[in-house]
Amino acid sequence: MIINSIESKLPNTGTSIFAVMSGFAVEHGAINLSQGFPDFPISAELIEKVSYFMKKGKNQYAPMPGVVELRNAISKMFQLNHNSFYNPATEITVTAGATQALFAAITAFVKIGDEVIILEPAYDSYAPAIELSGGIVRRSKLLFPDYKINRQEIETMISPKTKMIIINTPHNPTGSLLEKEDMEFIQKITTDTNIIVLSDEVYEHLIFEGKQHQSASRFAELKKRSIVIGSFGKTFHATGWKTGFALAPDYLMKEFRKIHQFVVFASNTPVQYAIADYVQKPENYTYLGEFFQKKRDVFTNAVKDSRFKVLSCYGTYFQLLDYSAITDETELAFAKRLTIEHGIASVPVSPFYKEGEENRTLRFCFAKQDETLLKAAEVLCRI
Ligand code: GLN
Repeated sequence: MIINSIESKLPNTGTSIFAVMSGFAVEHGAINLSQGFPDFPISAELIEKVSYFMKKGKNQYAPMPGVVELRNAISKMFQLNHNSFYNPATEITVTAGATQALFAAITAFVKIGDEVIILEPAYDSYAPAIELSGGIVRRSKLLFPDYKINRQEIETMISPKTKMIIINTPHNPTGSLLEKEDMEFIQKITTDTNIIVLSDEVYEHLIFEGKQHQSASRFAELKKRSIVIGSFGKTFHATGWKTGFALAPDYLMKEFRKIHQFVVFASNTPVQYAIADYVQKPENYTYLGEFFQKKRDVFTNAVKDSRFKVLSCYGTYFQLLDYSAITDETELAFAKRLTIEHGIASVPVSPFYKEGEENRTLRFCFAKQDETLLKAAEVLCRI
């Protein structure tokens, strides 16, 4: 006999839209510009390094906070890029991807009844993690079509119950950025409060038009209450390796690690050693802005004469296209039809909103070989 009354802890949560659309792409043999992952090979040198460390016997549990070589390397990277020091011993933890880091950060601090402000469209893992901890999600919409933050609204949402604000720059799914003034605003409204800022910066190196990544680690006051999250899956085109990190002042990191140790204990050992070596050379990631800007341009130039309208994109590897000139269908309906009838899989933006906002826009991942992008664009131009 099976149990006949399971009360779901996440009754309103279905399967992630990334899994849904990627599955759909496979099922219909479509070009997959939906889920965000590259279709080109990763660095052969990096693969060699993983293999080297495996053969050298680095195959047992890593220390709970991560191998010290990698924590040292991450510390150096933030020192170099943002002139911001994190102590490898007490302020840096290597995680099994950014998703796990986000989950541990939310779980470590959000209690029943605490409010957490998120900005919609929001990455899909934030709200379920908050709800599992009994937190209440407060949502402020980024302003369409530039997806700037609504400062006035955010300010009025803050209450004594606000435990955390989650920000994400460069922003998935919109490709917008938080500028220096935005970060100063977040800093200003949280100073002298007990609010923790969770700053999802997984696309930190994927930034275009000569813009600078405004990491929370750059702002002295903000840094004192922030947990910064990164992902080597994004930086080294290896999303399947699920290796990321969290940075925070020691008093926050101490609590973060209490959760981290029981979610995963430690992440993959040989990958950590390999990345520790590889990330030492800044040229292994400083090329990424130019590299992905070129891909963005290959894609947007190739669709510019189509009926899709190209929205602005300053970072990440996602391009939003507005299809309102083509159809009134909902984003999900059109994304599905585009996959089935035209063989191009994308991601609707509406699932990134609780109330399923419809702006007639779809997200296309351009972390693909140029020929994949051109092939997809050719189809889009015929629609
Ligand atoms: N972050 C990736 C995206 O936005 C997907 C991650 C996932 O599948 N969970 O497409």
